[in-house]
Amino acid sequence: MTRTLDAHNHLGVRHGADQTGTQLVARMDAAGVDQACVFPFVEGDFSNDVIDVAVAEHPDRLIPFMAVNPWHQQAAVDEVHARADKGYKGVKIHPTLHGYHLSDLGLIGPVLDAIRERGLLVISHGASDLYNAPPEFAAVSRAYPEIPFLMAHSGTFWSHDQAIELAAQIPNLYLETARVPVFEVARSVSELGPEKVVWGTDSPFVDYTFEYEKMSSVVDSEEARQLVCGGNLRRLLGLPE
Ligand SMILES: [Zn+2]
Repeated sequence: MTRTLDAHNHLGVRHGADQTGTQLVARMDAAGVDQACVFPFVEGDFSNDVIDVAVAEHPDRLIPFMAVNPWHQQAAVDEVHARADKGYKGVKIHPTLHGYHLSDLGLIGPVLDAIRERGLLVISHGASDLYNAPPEFAAVSRAYPEIPFLMAHSGTFWSHDQAIELAAQIPNLYLETARVPVFEVARSVSELGPEKVVWGTDSPFVDYTFEYEKMSSVVDSEEARQLVCGGNLRRLLGLPE
């Protein structure tokens, strides 16, 4: 049985939302989820230190990801190396909140060079906004074929068809299911196959148990569900089953 792994969780405090590692683990326990990737809220002057604290408290449950803002280009590169040294496995970016095109390699290229060098994964906000629409993911994932890219929110609503079309063509581009309605999740799995879909919740902005249980109603085979809800991401991160 592959252990479940949630790709998308925010920790810390911001206007309107907050979550500690201990609160998240309680939500995971209530839903029956084994492990979760965690990164800070990315608004304002966020810090990845909150992740160090939470992972030290729950080392067997929480997988550390960092967030970076490439407008602080050298600081972001330095952060990738410093946190990779501490065992961080992935990097969260949010082109819409931070105001840049995901495919602007003049800005983000040096950060992606560091991410590639350290063997990390990228999860980017990927709803159907201008700055991170599916063609932006296509350009960047083609430029960096060694880096796995997760498109958070699968391009919903208006770019979901395009997200499927591009993820089908690009081996290192995956669709992530956080806050994606069941109709679209079902289409992603049936059109791409379960190997290209990765489950995430986007806690604390969700009903945690609902985000997990929706997957059982959508992904009917147990084998496919194990890939989507943990197996694929474990493979990409080099974590044991
Ligand atoms: Zn999020």
